[in-house]
Amino acid sequence: MDFRETLKNAKTDVRALSEYSVQGIKDVCTKFGPRPAGDEAEKKAQEYMMEDLKKYCDSISRETFKLNPEAFMGFVKICGGSMFAATASNILGAFTNKKAALGAVAGVGTTIAALGGEFFFYKKLFDSLYKEKESGNVIAVRKATGETKRRIIISGHTDSAPEWTYTYKCGSNGSYYVILPAVAGLLLTIGTSAAVLCSKNKKLKKGLALSQLAFTPAYAALFKFTDSKRYVDGANDDLSGCYVSSSVLKYLSDNDIRFENTEVICVLAGGEEAGTRGSEAFFKAHPEYKTDGVETVFIGVDTVRDEEYMEIYERDMNGIVKNDTRVCSLLKNAALKCGKDIPVGAIPLGSTDAASASKAGIPAASFVAMDPAPARYYHTRLDTADILEQGTIEKTIEIMLRTVFDFDEKGLN
Ligand SMILES: [Zn+2]
Repeated sequence: MDFRETLKNAKTDVRALSEYSVQGIKDVCTKFGPRPAGDEAEKKAQEYMMEDLKKYCDSISRETFKLNPEAFMGFVKICGGSMFAATASNILGAFTNKKAALGAVAGVGTTIAALGGEFFFYKKLFDSLYKEKESGNVIAVRKATGETKRRIIISGHTDSAPEWTYTYKCGSNGSYYVILPAVAGLLLTIGTSAAVLCSKNKKLKKGLALSQLAFTPAYAALFKFTDSKRYVDGANDDLSGCYVSSSVLKYLSDNDIRFENTEVICVLAGGEEAGTRGSEAFFKAHPEYKTDGVETVFIGVDTVRDEEYMEIYERDMNGIVKNDTRVCSLLKNAALKCGKDIPVGAIPLGSTDAASASKAGIPAASFVAMDPAPARYYHTRLDTADILEQGTIEKTIEIMLRTVFDFDEKGLN
């Protein structure tokens, strides 16, 4: 089936879908506001979107999963606390008994484990220390008329992030003003521990130990890195992705299009800002996507706003997880047909839900349209429906529809 042909007599066209998306996002923001993973607002927003989405699909369900929402960004506070303890231990070691510096070694170890485990590798290292909640994933399926040979999943996430204090207060680089001195302090602390434990030079040991104090304001600042009392609206990050995904099903449904052999699924994931926990639960609950012989791909659509910064992520989860080159090409070629030459690259920091698919062995890629600086609105109260870019949403819906039609025709090869 040719996408351009279907556009000619479309009852609902791409422009209409972008209007539908903008209105939908405004409604969700007004009715439910910020949506922390596992909170009632996230659930209510999912149910609201589900009520609408069920008109465009054959089956729809909300699958729940458990998570510890505060754990993911909680690592920042663990790092701050551990660094205070490490600093104090080194000072004690330098001035009294050098064995006290072993406490600093433990503090540094905890900091590295929290940073690496929770943030870089998205492991649930400290999750059990935090309160457990329930979130959900909404899964809407539009079936094929005949035998299902292909399956394409387009996804956005419904939850929103806690505000990043320093990005809001100081702009794009705000968070780095805190992170860089904290990392410098960490390195100095490691050096100081080594000196306190191994060196005989008392003056050096004491000097190094005291110089660590210069970095304590950075550790203190880590405690306010995110504001768990103020979650953001997340109109762009990522209700835009949710509505782009829903629009794909709406286009097919409103225009009576059904593929013979391709199943199209829209997933509205929960818990992405809590460490991609929703998409992880989704793939855990659906091992059949890997084993049932249906060629399956996943596309994560996250933050659709800044058209000049459209990008396809081939490397995800802090660059550690590799997404599928063929899915990237599928998206790239579909975008070219829409007049957009979109770079294929690596996520600067963090992760998208596509990483969960890749980790589960499902060919995946993510599509993002956000200034990677990061954008001024990224994870701040500025991410409201007032700053939506309808044109970018419209272009992205067109690209996603082309991607779906191309995949139906040719699969991945
Ligand atoms: Zn996001």
